[in-house]
Amino acid sequence: MDGLQTGLALELAPTRDSFDAAAIPGFRAALQAAYRRLTAAERLEASQQSQSLRWHSRACPLCASQAGEPVAGTGEDVVRCRCCHLLYRDRIPEDDQSRLRFGETEAMAAFHALKSEPLYAQLEARKSRYVLSRLLEHAGTGGRRLRLLEIGASSGVLLRAAAERGCVALGLEPNPGFAQEARALGGNVVEGFFPDALPDQARFDLIISMDVLEYIEDPVDSLVRMGRHLAPGGRIAVQVPNAAHPLVALQGARSPIYKPGHITFFEMETLITAGYLAGFKAVHAETYISEVDRLLSWPDEALWPALHAQGWTPRDRAEITAEALFARDLGYKLFVVFGRPGE
Ligand SMILES: [Zn+2]
Repeated sequence: MDGLQTGLALELAPTRDSFDAAAIPGFRAALQAAYRRLTAAERLEASQQSQSLRWHSRACPLCASQAGEPVAGTGEDVVRCRCCHLLYRDRIPEDDQSRLRFGETEAMAAFHALKSEPLYAQLEARKSRYVLSRLLEHAGTGGRRLRLLEIGASSGVLLRAAAERGCVALGLEPNPGFAQEARALGGNVVEGFFPDALPDQARFDLIISMDVLEYIEDPVDSLVRMGRHLAPGGRIAVQVPNAAHPLVALQGARSPIYKPGHITFFEMETLITAGYLAGFKAVHAETYISEVDRLLSWPDEALWPALHAQGWTPRDRAEITAEALFARDLGYKLFVVFGRPGE
């Protein structure tokens, strides 16, 4: 526990390592029960809901091609587009499930409990400060305070980090419990969904969405709508799970990336393409959260093929490090900052 306590006591500068769970002694053990409760609640909810849902098929949400090829070992309905290589579900619920999903459900309660764990909260705060630093490096100030919008503000940790950096921050959050908690942290939060909960004329210098786009039926349209609320010279930052992380192939259908509700599975190339199709260029792109401890827990006969599938042929296990994963855009989360071409 010494390492754990030291990690808690030190408020580290926001580097990628400072919030990489694989590098924090004791993190996995401390959070295991909370993660299990969340996974069980999500699975139960999905099995209950799936019986009452009506489904429809969809084309590739990036290029509209109907040519999706089933991908072995990924679970139901996951295909890879033969044209643009996007991974996505080609069969999704007919009605938007988001109002149901972000209500006061058992899964949301379990997510809330996980986020309230001190170690999780500590890492989330560090990550928020890191993400904000990267975003602000690519934002012009023009001598005034930057207006920031977070879509899906959750418990308000990033809003607080933004306020600390001098931004005027507004959050949209559909879950009433999280919205209330974010307000208790001092955040300015509107309960509701993007863009309905915003006035048409609202403009922001920075718009950020963390772990949202993978739920959306039309992610390009969603980015276009963000652009309508973006001030001249503004930046849009997007974080989504990285379907190219080798752990995803190893876990297959049981990977949290393929959990119910996630319908588009981005890799670096397809996330940048989504932004391009919405009229943006990537001004910054990286991955973070290595999951390298979990990766190394797999035996050679499973691990090597999963790495080779990503074009990576390390000579031995010592070469499989967080830095090596990040250098190949193989961290667990993708993070891209977009701007308008020429701005
Ligand atoms: Zn496509």
